[in-house]
Amino acid sequence: MKIHEYQAKELFAKFGVATQQGYVATTKEQAKEYAAKLSSSMYVVKAQAHCGGRGKAGGVKLARTLDEVEAAASKILGMRIVNKQTGAEGKLVRKVLVTDAVNIKKEFYLSLAVDNENASVVIIASGAGGTEIEEIAASQPELIVKQLVSTTMGLRDYEARYVADKIGIRKENVKEFILMLKNMYRLFVEKDCSLVEINPLVETEEGKLIAIDGKVNFDDNALFRHPDILELRDVDEENPKEYEAAKHDLNYVSLDGSIGCMVNGAGLAMATMDIIHAFGGEPANFLDVGGTATTERVTAAFKLLSDASVRAILVNIFGGIVKCDVIAEGIVIAAKEVGLNVPLIVRLDGTNVEKGKQILKDSGLKIYAEGDLRSAARKAVEMAK
Ligand code: GDP
Ligand code: MG
Repeated sequence: MKIHEYQAKELFAKFGVATQQGYVATTKEQAKEYAAKLSSSMYVVKAQAHCGGRGKAGGVKLARTLDEVEAAASKILGMRIVNKQTGAEGKLVRKVLVTDAVNIKKEFYLSLAVDNENASVVIIASGAGGTEIEEIAASQPELIVKQLVSTTMGLRDYEARYVADKIGIRKENVKEFILMLKNMYRLFVEKDCSLVEINPLVETEEGKLIAIDGKVNFDDNALFRHPDILELRDVDEENPKEYEAAKHDLNYVSLDGSIGCMVNGAGLAMATMDIIHAFGGEPANFLDVGGTATTERVTAAFKLLSDASVRAILVNIFGGIVKCDVIAEGIVIAAKEVGLNVPLIVRLDGTNVEKGKQILKDSGLKIYAEGDLRSAARKAVEMAK
């Protein structure tokens, strides 16, 4: 799960990671009113959307006066940020963060992430932080420092000191840096994060270290034990279909193609996508209804497939634990409810397959029943054209 910068900074403040004070606003008037509460002579107005690259897209603006804050907020609110991270659709900006501006002397990159290969947490840092970090990582990887942290031992001072030295933290700031990194680590572990990132971490003209941007991602599988984090969820920022799918415990990923897929098991779902490709088609989604599908879940899953871009639906179920008749019932209920207006191709096999086929036959729905995956995929591609 992702959260906004302003929420990440609230967590930073709670965990002792230095950051600016700020307020989040949804209108330009509100932005101006909140800026007046800040005791600064310079402000930053920042787009709050679940994506990076806001600065380059014009979503981060400095303002000298309250009127300039209002003008900046008016430009940023309602804008659409389009970049590599957002995809072609882009991200609509619904909120802005108004904060004190900081006098920047130097920008660093500092993050904690999960290193899957080494089964540990990794510190990633650079003395070349800021908006160009992706380009720098690609062209000058030697400027990126990595330090593994043992999850049994926890982060030790000398590891943090090593990173400080490598990225050029001033001697005067090393203690502050170690404390900051340790607090980030505490946040990372206590809240089951998958990423805690500060870009840039800034050395100010006044000689302090401060996080002026923040990104925190959480492990979805651990959210059940963090009700406080779940409250930070902003449904507006999520793909509505993926959000709906998550509510029903379905593994669903939206894709760009025209063939809706409903499959049980992640492996079979991937194989189904591959075979659609092999016949020259494009899947509209990845959808794994899981091994313990109930009629209700199948109905919910089927509803996710009715989309303007979907021109054929391919159901590929191997009934091992889940029974074919349960799947068939779900399909019939959902198809009647949502009004099926694209060809439906079904390949069923396994437990109670005959019962399942009978249910589909008796439904009166126009369904193409196929005996094997190959012919089902071929049919789906053909019908989608
Ligand atoms: P991002 O582009 O989405 O990563 O947004 P950031 O919050 O990282 O802001 C982008 C850039 O705007 C930073 O790298 C800074 O150069 C600049 N910026 C952000 N906040 C301030 C600030 O308080 N003062 C100054 N001078 N520049 C800022
Ligand atoms: Mg940034």
